[in-house]
Amino acid sequence: MNIDLHCHTNVSDGVLTPNQLIDLAIDRGVDVLSITDHDTLGAYSIIDAVPPHLQLIPGIEFSSQWRKQGVHIVGLKVDLSNESIIKAVTQQTEARKRRAQIIAEKLKGLGFDNCLEGAQAFAGSHIGRPHFAQYLVQIGAVKNINQAFKKYLGAGKVGDIKDEWADLKTVVGWIHQAGGVAVLAHPKKYNLTRTKLVDLISDFCEAGGGAMEVISGLQIPSVTRDLAGLCNKFNLLASCGSDFHAPDKQWAALGMVSQLPDDCIPVWEHWS
Ligand code: AMP
Ligand code: MN
Ligand code: MN
Ligand code: MN
Repeated sequence: MNIDLHCHTNVSDGVLTPNQLIDLAIDRGVDVLSITDHDTLGAYSIIDAVPPHLQLIPGIEFSSQWRKQGVHIVGLKVDLSNESIIKAVTQQTEARKRRAQIIAEKLKGLGFDNCLEGAQAFAGSHIGRPHFAQYLVQIGAVKNINQAFKKYLGAGKVGDIKDEWADLKTVVGWIHQAGGVAVLAHPKKYNLTRTKLVDLISDFCEAGGGAMEVISGLQIPSVTRDLAGLCNKFNLLASCGSDFHAPDKQWAALGMVSQLPDDCIPVWEHWS
């Protein structure tokens, strides 16, 4: 089975339209797919048709704040018509707009003008840091997107604003109210110390979280083993996804996700 439970469309910060993404998933032989755009379910109302051999699991990637850290919680198999999650999405969308204004002000303080308008030109309805990064590249402030994150937008930098996001318990609550399972996304990508990583997983469990990503994109076997160990230690279900955003990123290719280790309990056992 080819299973990819984490990817993005141009409704958030991916480049493909939802229908293009579905077509690519079919080309890649994906059997089970979840589109998990940042803080929006918008892709699901754009998709025309899904062939019967592709199982589409309604999903979302919520932004959350844990301690002073921005963390991501994926919601899988959520009821798209659930009022709580619809309200949550509206709330996060407003938070995203407020946050974009703050990021623009911070960048203005460094001498970069018109960042909000500039970033907006790259964004759809859901503006995020990647759109600011694109603008900084456009005006020649940085050489590339990676440098924009390194200097201005990444963890601990001036544009890393996460105070607007809801806490873990709130986000997990939204997902549960919509009948979904809450998945801690890409635990290794926060660059936490070991103690803090264990604290995060522990707090996520306490907040009611049910699963964690044991595989996120291309990763080395030792990372997979380590995450599988943590996943089992905390009795969480295991998820896997590419975190696909764009076709040219080889380390996050749609439908190219390794198999979960045998000793993990896959998250799809929760719903199948
Ligand atoms: P936001 O949703 O506005 O907080 O932006 C987070 C998104 O920025 C992530 O989902 C990634 O797609 C992207 N991102 C984060 N760090 C980097 C980086 N170092 N280089 C490129 N993109 C990044
Ligand atoms: Mn993203
Ligand atoms: Mn993420
Ligand atoms: Mn993602």
